[in-house]
Amino acid sequence: MSLTGKTAVITGSNSGIGLGVARELARAGANVVLNSFTDRNEDHALAAEIAAEFGVDAKYVKADMSNGDECRALIEQAGACDILVNNAGIQHVAPIDEFPVDKWNAIIAINMNSAFHTTAAALPKMRAAGWGRVVNIASAHGLTASPFKSAYVAAKHGVVGLTKVTALETAREPITCNAICPGYVATPLVEAQIPDTMAKYNMSRDEVVEKVLLERQPSKQFATVEQLGGTTVFLCSDAAAQITGTTISVDGGWTAL
Ligand code: NAD
Repeated sequence: MSLTGKTAVITGSNSGIGLGVARELARAGANVVLNSFTDRNEDHALAAEIAAEFGVDAKYVKADMSNGDECRALIEQAGACDILVNNAGIQHVAPIDEFPVDKWNAIIAINMNSAFHTTAAALPKMRAAGWGRVVNIASAHGLTASPFKSAYVAAKHGVVGLTKVTALETAREPITCNAICPGYVATPLVEAQIPDTMAKYNMSRDEVVEKVLLERQPSKQFATVEQLGGTTVFLCSDAAAQITGTTISVDGGWTAL
């Protein structure tokens, strides 16, 4: 699959799944625009490393995905935007009646609203180019729920809904929109949940991984960022041109339970 000449914008891509997806898109030949809310030398260095390793154009654009104007500015600053991967996301775990309102608002803004703003800004560019792919990194929590993750589950279900609407509005055009629904992937977002869970259940790290984190993942293995990148590349391929408005689970069997 060659994506040479295409430009991909990946939100929240200075670590974890976003960086893995950016690397696989670059491996397939796409120019990539990395993003996060920081503006550190190491952020720009990540883009330089990808450019050198895969022989593509790569740049890093600072934009805070909790701010709608900055979401839209990211797409403008990207120049071309043939492939949009909405990946930026955060997590907070608490019962609904104790859920901090600022955390709720931040999760809804970053995990869901940002995809609305970037998609709205990107579709005119895709239409002008005559080709486009929107890939929303949702979650198994876009299809099922877990207690204590109200904002995250609500946002991810919202992203799956937005995916369907985007697909219907572009159905007669050479543009597709799909959501990838990962189960647990070994990334900093998952790592950050481990200490709290160890303390809560008085468990060792290994017990937390197998009995809590991967409890609902029948394969008992984390998905990898490379596998999510490969799924994204597939959705950008000609073979996937008639796949639109749907979800692809990469969850080791979680949603088959
Ligand atoms: P991560 O913490 O490694 O990456 C999150 C990315 O989002 C980082 O690059 C971070 O800088 C960026 N980000 C956070 N707030 C931002 C903001 N305000 N503006 C711009 N960027 C921001 O986590 P990850 O596991 O790679 O998660 C990536 C996506 O995958 C998220 O949407 C997450 O919900 C989803 N997901 C992850 C898993 C998993 O097991 N790791 C499972 C299902 C879905």
